[in-house]
This record gives sequence, C-alpha cells and structure tokens, in this order.
Amino acid sequence: MTDVILVLNAGSSSIKFRAYYREGKELGLGLHGQIEGLFSSPHFIAHDKNNEKAGEKSWGDGAKLSHEDGIHYISAFLTTHRGDNRLVAVGHRVVHGGGKFAKSVLATPDVVDELDKLTPLAPLHQPHNLKPIRIIAASRPDLPQVACFDTAFHRAQTEVAQAFALPESITSRGVRRYGFHGLSYEYIAQALPEFSPRAANGRAIVAHLGNGASMCAIEKGRSVASTMGFTAVDGLPMGTRCGSLDPGVLLYLLEELKMDTHAIEDLIYKQSGLLGVSGISGDMRKLLESDAPRARFAIDLYAYRIGREIGSLAAALQGLDALVFTAGIGENSAEIRRRAARHAAWLGIEIDESANEAGGPRISTPSSKVEVWAIPTDEELMIARHTREVVDAQ
Ligand code: ADP
Repeated sequence: MTDVILVLNAGSSSIKFRAYYREGKELGLGLHGQIEGLFSSPHFIAHDKNNEKAGEKSWGDGAKLSHEDGIHYISAFLTTHRGDNRLVAVGHRVVHGGGKFAKSVLATPDVVDELDKLTPLAPLHQPHNLKPIRIIAASRPDLPQVACFDTAFHRAQTEVAQAFALPESITSRGVRRYGFHGLSYEYIAQALPEFSPRAANGRAIVAHLGNGASMCAIEKGRSVASTMGFTAVDGLPMGTRCGSLDPGVLLYLLEELKMDTHAIEDLIYKQSGLLGVSGISGDMRKLLESDAPRARFAIDLYAYRIGREIGSLAAALQGLDALVFTAGIGENSAEIRRRAARHAAWLGIEIDESANEAGGPRISTPSSKVEVWAIPTDEELMIARHTREVVDAQ
C-alpha cells in the first residue's frame, strides 16, 4: 500500500488537485486535474500519472456547484480510482499567512480561524483557500491537513525590505509588504543547485510570469526582496492586474471619476494589465499573435517593466549572478524572455538566441556576466513537500 498526499489549490471558481505517491524519498505525481467554472458551467477533468485522461464530466451551461460539491466530487473520484493506496494528508495552497506564518503549518481548526482573520488582506483568495480545509475537516477530522502559504518564503526579508514608509499606527495593523508566489520561488530555489551551483549560492532574480506575475530577489536560497507588496496587485503588470500604481491615481479615481471601491477593485484586478492596455486580451499568447498596435504596446510596456524591476532587484542584491524565467510566459515565450533580457543588457546579460528559442534551460551565452535560465516551476510539488515535512514532524 502506498501513502498518498493530496494537494488542493482552490480558487474562486475552480479547484485543482494533484495526488502524490510517497515513493521512498520521492513524491511521484499520480492522478491530477481540476473542476473549473463552478458557478457557470462546471467541468471536471482528470489525468493519470502517464497524463492519459482518467475522467471527465460536464454539468452543462448554467449549472452550479458549490465548493463543497466540488470537493465531494473530487474525493469520490479519487476514492474510486484509489486502488491500493492510502490518503495520509492533504496540503492546501493558502495565499496569505500574514506576518506570523513563516512556514507551512498543520491546519487545525484554531489555525484556520486565525487564517480567516487575514481575509481582509486577500479577500479574493483567502476565503476560497480555506473553504476546502473546513469541508474536509467536517467529514475527516482525523486526516492531517497542512496550509502552505504564498507569503511564507518572503518572511526571510529584512524588516526594511518589508516596510512601507507609513506611520507606525498603520504599519502595526499589518500594512506592510508580504510578497506572493513564494511557493514557486521556493521550488525554484530548491531546483537551482541542479542547474547552477553559482546561481544557487549567489544572487538570483526569479521572474514568475504567469497570469499573475511577480519577481523575487533571492540570495543563497532566501528571499531578499519582491515586486509584490501588500497585495498581489503590486509590481509587474499582469494579465488583468495593473501592477504598481501611484497611489495618487486611486485618489483621482475616487474623487474625480467618482468610482467606488468595487469599481476600482474591478479596474485594477480585472480590467488592467495586458488586457487593459491592449484592449484585446490578457492572454500573452494572443497578444504575441496579434499585429494590433495596442497589443505591441502592451508587450512593450510589459517587457520594459520587467527590465526596470530587474534593475531594482539587482540593486537590492548588490549584484546579480543569475536571472531565471518561470511560469506560463517565462517558461514558454522566447520573445518575452529576449525582450525582457534586452532591457537588462547593461548588467552584462547576453542571450543565446538559439538556446532561448529551444527553451533552455540555459539561455545565456557562455560569456554572459549573468547566467539566464528558463526553468519550469512546480508549486504543487512544493506544497506536497511541505505537507510531508509537517506530517512527518508530528
Ligand atoms: P497562472 O498564473 O494562471 O498559473 P500560467 O502560469 O499558466 O498562469 O500562465 C498563463 C500565461 O502564460 C498566459 O498569459 C498565457 O498566454 C501564457 N503562455 C502560455 N504558453 C505560452 C507561449 N507558448 N507563449 C507565450 N505565452 C504563453
């Protein structure tokens, strides 16, 4: 009988799952999939360890499933396909661990209540991340569940790096830079020694460029600075999020354009970034395929902003040994990697065009002062590793 760790990543309208088999020191990926469109047209799909389709179901347009329905469907599916395996723990992605949780933790009811108090800091994500923990605890209180945070990796940053220049009366309420995508950065930091001992033991900037996008300065495996701050809307422009914005813009929107907070939230999270600038799409592939001048402009702005942040993070690191691209755009788009790296050429970065077109992993020339890499991330595997660690320590 093999022990299985289930990883769940629940969002507002989707639940992704991955089952990992404990095989000695390794964690082997087994059944994995997702339910998407919980409240519009729910669709479930699962693949097995060989990436063969293992199940699919659609509930039809207009159908609605609650998170509870979704969790129950996934767990029934896993139970019927479980074979001779035993579920020993569930690991959850939880976006916010606040200032307190610098590590993954056993998600006891008290811990979940505490994490719930952080909902105002991540209202769009935190409640959905916590829901499955409570749903599973209700039917399986004996099953260890572990909360793994997107913020935890960044708690290694100095107090200065985590501070806003605001009065103490505000910062003491938790208004500070938290940073996100920490599970991805931690995965890359753990993978880096295999690719480059120099990068792993030195100063690296990792660009996590997915629908959400951020960058992190890492020194000897620890987070030094990141582009995301108090919320996941800061820093780089993203698919639909604006990234860094002069706070005066928000005052202007409130006072002059009479927008309320909901309209502003919708604007900065859902209508901006690549989508807002191009007016075409927030999907990088679509923009790269388009000849429209606004699509080109959105890409220009995106690459320029990455270049500026590379400069800022290199300053935080006081130098740079490696630049790593990861996530959907970072792993797959040679053009964005080339264009972003061009903005950082002054650091001595030289891209090897054919290696870049081939997808790497190393995409810099041998004479480049800074190594450049394209490395796939795996946040779910990181969650599974943390879950194993926390459960083994009990
Ligand atoms: P999420 O942040 O939701 O996990 P991903 O990491 O999957 O998202 O990244 C999604 C982004 O990656 C989209 O903008 C998509 O267009 C982009 N992407 C995926 N493949 C390519 C590709 N071959 N070329 C350019 N962009 C790509």
